Amino acid sequence: MSEIPRVAPIPGPINQEFYDGLNRHELLLQKCRDCGKFRFWPIEMCPFCNSFNHEWARCSGKGTAHSYTVQHQVMHPAYPAPWVVLLVELEEGPRLVTHGLMPPEEVEIGMPVEIEYEKITDEITLHAFRKAEK
Ligand SMILES: [Zn+2]
Repeated sequence: MSEIPRVAPIPGPINQEFYDGLNRHELLLQKCRDCGKFRFWPIEMCPFCNSFNHEWARCSGKGTAHSYTVQHQVMHPAYPAPWVVLLVELEEGPRLVTHGLMPPEEVEIGMPVEIEYEKITDEITLHAFRKAEK
């Protein structure tokens, strides 16, 4: 493993709950209290019904590979190449871009995936997704 740290995001007031959840190995997304829909990225207003009334709700961590790309060039020594960049559609509806924890030759659109947690620093854990077990 590389000794060079991965690039870590800097949480702010709007997404602190999201990162706090990842640190506890929980995928929390905003859920509208009026229409009941989940959304991602964190924003103040529901994009479906314009409500400001929301809660943070735990997601299953399961979804499907909606799309992907493969990064072949080494951007930074801490990142392996090739690197699968996965667009996951969660069971709850939102899609998120994440690290695909599978070799590029095994990734397929529509494949079931489930969450893993990658600790990047003492303060930051990121989501990543691997092929779901049956
Ligand atoms: Zn809503």
